[in-house]
Amino acid sequence: MTSRPEFAARTAGMRPSKLRELVAAAARPSAGDVSGPTLLSLGGGLPPAEAFPARAVAEAAERALAGAAGAALQYSATEGDPDLLDLVGADLAGRLRLPDPTGRLLVTTGSQQALDLIGKVLLDPGDVAVVESPAYVGALRALAGYQPRIVEVPVDDDGMDTELLAGRLRAGLRPKLCYLVPNFSNPSGRTLTARRRTRLAQLAARYGFLIVEDDPYGQLRFAGADLPPVAADAAEQVVYLGSFSKLVAPGLRVGYLAAPRWLHRALTVAKQATDLNSAALSQRLLVELLADPDWFAGHLAGLRDLYRVRAEALTGAVADRLAGRLATPMPDGGMFVWASVQTPGIDALALARAAMRRAVSVVPGNEFSLADGYPRHLRLSFSMLGPAGLVAAVDRLGDAFDDLTASG
Ligand code: PMP
Repeated sequence: MTSRPEFAARTAGMRPSKLRELVAAAARPSAGDVSGPTLLSLGGGLPPAEAFPARAVAEAAERALAGAAGAALQYSATEGDPDLLDLVGADLAGRLRLPDPTGRLLVTTGSQQALDLIGKVLLDPGDVAVVESPAYVGALRALAGYQPRIVEVPVDDDGMDTELLAGRLRAGLRPKLCYLVPNFSNPSGRTLTARRRTRLAQLAARYGFLIVEDDPYGQLRFAGADLPPVAADAAEQVVYLGSFSKLVAPGLRVGYLAAPRWLHRALTVAKQATDLNSAALSQRLLVELLADPDWFAGHLAGLRDLYRVRAEALTGAVADRLAGRLATPMPDGGMFVWASVQTPGIDALALARAAMRRAVSVVPGNEFSLADGYPRHLRLSFSMLGPAGLVAAVDRLGDAFDDLTASG
């Protein structure tokens, strides 16, 4: 006889994450040592330790605690620290030409919390949620908790296929929301074209759904020109999500959203029930850091250089050493390439397992689809290793291919 209550029905949709194992493994990397059997990670999409501005954060903490310790250590407003809201609002209005975001902003505990709050206030069981496919696994999991019917719309070289979505809408599909990462998506590395951005906003207005524009990587562009966000044309139809995780440090757990006015209050009330407010100390650290725009601009320029060099090293090594076996398009920014297996008969999951035996981690494509639509793809992250480590990791992937072909 069991003496415990049943779990809620919604937990049925909460699948454990294979990524978590990979992230745990990636927590013990050795970017410098490429000779031994230490695991080389192309798996988790984490910023490397050398990307963290640790000294600037320490100095910011000193100032935050000396100046306004009361605010830094106290509960803060649910909407967020007023100084941080001012800085974020000015950035969005300037850089992204978003219509005045005052009164539409909410600081969140990472953008992961924004995804959860959006699901919480919009999705009843059975409601339709469209996601680009392949999709960020954290978004799939956050939404799945609210038991929607998740409909995957494929991504091609130009990002999510908006004409395919238009066809589904004409045929009667009525989503409440459509989730996508328009810039250098996780995992596809693809960027939504300007035409498709406009088209998606038109579809949202016509069919009455919310676009969830998740943009943690937009400021990590290292090639090509910035595109206006979907939200620039359609503020009442889009919730725009930003995050400091990839720009400063994920350990701060600070992100933000700019919501349509009709949605802002519901999200704020939902956040009150969830965590009252995001960490006040982290927000004051960011206020101190962003108060020096030259420092921040220089820091971002350094990150873009770091990731460009790494993206070139990874795609170059694959082209040199795995031609005909693996194809990796070069992304314009972010941390990921979406690699397709070219060798007939080799399955991505088998390859990922063989790679793990050769001490290199990669994520099999099916992690990013509820429909297991990507048995021949891998997500490779170039964020964690320096160029020499990336080349060594690609060599080990070559060994993994050899192991699979040798074993038939
Ligand atoms: N969205 C995307 C596309 C991501 O890749 C991530 C983190 N990997 C997140 C959201 C969540 O980031 P955070 O909660 O740290 O802001």
